[in-house]
Amino acid sequence: MRIVLVGPPGAGKGTQAAYLAKNLSIPHISTGDLFRANISQGTDLGKRARAFMDEGRLVPDEVTIGMAKDRMSQPDALNGFLLDGFPRNVGQAEALDEILRSESVELDAVLDLEVPEDEVVKRIAGRRICRNESAHVFHETYNPPKAEGVCDTCGGELYQRDDDSEETVRTRLEVYHTQTEPIIDYYRAQGLVVTISALGKVTDVTERAMEALKRSEEG
Ligand code: AMP
Repeated sequence: MRIVLVGPPGAGKGTQAAYLAKNLSIPHISTGDLFRANISQGTDLGKRARAFMDEGRLVPDEVTIGMAKDRMSQPDALNGFLLDGFPRNVGQAEALDEILRSESVELDAVLDLEVPEDEVVKRIAGRRICRNESAHVFHETYNPPKAEGVCDTCGGELYQRDDDSEETVRTRLEVYHTQTEPIIDYYRAQGLVVTISALGKVTDVTERAMEALKRSEEG
């Protein structure tokens, strides 16, 4: 399956993407993770992306689209993938369509994770992420790790993302509403959108998502 995951920052895209990708046996492709890996490796691409990310703005399309295309052309992604954080504007959605057309393949679904804005702010403010694996996500209050600062799953160090500060989150939400939300209408016109609530337990949301994807496949 070829799936796009959309939703505001803090909707739980990364967490859900990891579970869904595992359940569906397809790779989880996160452009945010790819950028962060480039930054920690000190690559030129990472240096270009950093300033935009720190401010909560989108990295320019000419950098992002090439990086996503490269990743999608890796052997593990030939039979499907779950895109998390790409596309993030209509230009990227059009570029993705073009990439898929050139391979004579199509998207199967666009899974839209819905969550109220006040919940998003609460989730992000206390979010702590594992340095080893970004899908290992905890929350100071809602989902605290057993030992402070240590990942329950793999023992990795937990940290707060630079762009999870209150000011940057406000920018990221605005960017989401103005630039990313329009892709939902773009995909709705193609009949691809399935919307689910991202509230509740992680496992419940995963179950909801799997059912919605199954229904969309049958429909
Ligand atoms: P994420 O981990 O998906 O929340 O992404 C973190 C940051 O990486 C975003 O706030 C952007 O600055 C950048 N980023 C990730 N994906 C994209 C994309 N598709 N287009 C532009 N910038 C992106």
